[in-house]
Amino acid sequence: MILFRDSKRIVVKVGTSTLTHSTGHLNLRRIEALVKVLSDMKNSGIQVVLVSSGAVSAGVAKIGFGHIPSTPEEKQAMAAIGQSELMKIYDRFFSDYGHTVAQILMTKDVFSNPDRRSAAENTFNRLLQMHCIPIVNENDSVSTDELTKFGGNDILSAYVAKICDADVLLNLSDVDGLYDSDPRSNPDARLIDRIDEINEEIVAIAGGAGTDRGTGGMIAKLNAARLVTEAGIPMFIMNGHDPELLYTLLDGGHVGTYFKAVKKQDK
Ligand code: GLU
Repeated sequence: MILFRDSKRIVVKVGTSTLTHSTGHLNLRRIEALVKVLSDMKNSGIQVVLVSSGAVSAGVAKIGFGHIPSTPEEKQAMAAIGQSELMKIYDRFFSDYGHTVAQILMTKDVFSNPDRRSAAENTFNRLLQMHCIPIVNENDSVSTDELTKFGGNDILSAYVAKICDADVLLNLSDVDGLYDSDPRSNPDARLIDRIDEINEEIVAIAGGAGTDRGTGGMIAKLNAARLVTEAGIPMFIMNGHDPELLYTLLDGGHVGTYFKAVKKQDK
C-alpha cells in the first residue's frame, strides 16, 4: 500500500455528479469543502493537480437551457459557457485559501504529438514549481472526433497523471469504490478495498456498475486505472461526497478502492 502522506505530487479527478446538484447548478458547499482540503494538502507540501468535470452541466444550468444538450454543437456551447463559470468559482475559493489556480484545457492529440506533449509537460512542471494549482478539463468546445476526444475525464485524468509523473491518482466519484456486485440492487454488496491486478473478473464486476450523472461509469474508471497502474502510478476510487475523507488517506488510513501500481514498486 502506498503511504499517501509520502506523495509529493497528486492528481485529483472530480466528476460532475460530485460537483453539481441534481439541478445541474454547481454544488458550492461541496466545491468549497473540496477546495479547502486540496488547499490544506498544498499547504502541507503536496503538489496538487485538479482534473475537474462539471462544465457542461454548469453551462446548461447557467443559461437555463432546459434539457440535456442533444447535439455536439449544443454540448460544445454549454461547455464554453460552463467552463468559465467553473473556473470563476474555483478561482474565488482557492484565492480565499491563498492559492493560485491555472486553467489547462486538453485535447487527446496533445498526447500523441511529441512537441505538444512536451510543451504541456513543461507547462505543468512550471506551474507546479510556481506553486499554482493547475485545473484541467477536456477542451470540450473544440474536441470533436476520436483523435481529439478522451471520452470522459476519467481517461483524461489518467493521461494527466502520466504526463505529470504523479505519485498517485485520486478519482472522486459518486460511488464509494468498486463493489463485488451492484450495491444499488444488492444490499450485501461488499466494497473491494484493494485490487492488485485488473483481470477479467474485475472487468466483469465493473461492467454492471455505473454512476448516476456525468459520463464516467465504472468501466471508464477501470480503463483509467489500467493506464496509470501500468505506468507505475497507483489509483484510488473514492466517494467525493465528503472531501474531508481525503484527510483519512493523508493520515495513513484507507478509503475506497485502491489499485496497486504494477510496473514499478509501490511509491
Ligand atoms: N468535460 C466534461 C465537462 O466538463 C465532463 C466529462 C466527464 O463527465 O467525464 O462537463
